[in-house]
Amino acid sequence: MLVYLNGRFVEKDQALVSVDDRGFLFGDGVYEVIRARKGRLFEDAAHFARLATGLRALRLPAPSQDMATLRGLCVELLERNQLVSADATVYLQITRGVAPRTHQFPKPDTPPTVYLAAGPFTPPLSAQANGVHTITHPDIRWARCDIKTVNLLPNAWAKQCAVDAGAAEAIFMRDGALTDGASSNVFAVIAGELCTPPLSTYLLPGITRRVVLELAHELGLASHERPIYFSELRTADEVFITGTTSDVTPVIRVDDWTVGNGAPGAVSTALQRALRDRLDACAGRPAAG
Ligand code: PMP
Repeated sequence: MLVYLNGRFVEKDQALVSVDDRGFLFGDGVYEVIRARKGRLFEDAAHFARLATGLRALRLPAPSQDMATLRGLCVELLERNQLVSADATVYLQITRGVAPRTHQFPKPDTPPTVYLAAGPFTPPLSAQANGVHTITHPDIRWARCDIKTVNLLPNAWAKQCAVDAGAAEAIFMRDGALTDGASSNVFAVIAGELCTPPLSTYLLPGITRRVVLELAHELGLASHERPIYFSELRTADEVFITGTTSDVTPVIRVDDWTVGNGAPGAVSTALQRALRDRLDACAGRPAAG
């Protein structure tokens, strides 16, 4: 497996990052996970826009490769790893680079570390067909969850709590309202209305979330970006999570209660199908698109 590190394609086991890298020492960096089908990147413009926003928000120096070059490197990595005939993911990480350990940022001319890896991806079809269990968890993250940083310990912690409880995802709750999941955004159908928490600094602006809102509109489903309180979540007819690697995954249980009738609901299923169609359309796009 070849990866890209700081200007070179190398075998993954030959790719070395310094122990002084700020990603290693402080979780000081940003990342993206991009879905690819048949060598075509899905929603790449949105991923690179979010990456650029994150770099700016964290005052990370822009890498020498611009966003268009990084996009080209993602495609080249898929090709070099023969990942162009099926589903794959590309992982992209940029850290504040290598510098003696001090909390404050190093000199701005410190070159960032740029890392890309790709791997085959199998959509979780059984979870998507049958639904998953989730837990709620206090939102123990910082107040800039809108930035996709590699500092994911609270997310990893919450996900482990979910796994310990036999669940697939943890839904974060802050001040009585839900924010997002450990690695997904959350939607609910409450009193017949499709709802998802509004964008704020407390949740990640998921690319799949945005696509699902567009798809809902195309399907004629009214959607509301508004706070969802824990007490309302208990009354939801449907709950589902969205993400680059989860697509639309119905939630059939939250904590100790069953959602709706305990099976994936009609809205979740319709949006799941519509998202699959979008992914299929992306695979049929011309290479340069
Ligand atoms: N929230 C969090 C905390 C995430 O880690 C993810 C996955 N990156 C998402 C939401 C979903 O975002 P996207 O649809 O862009 O994958």
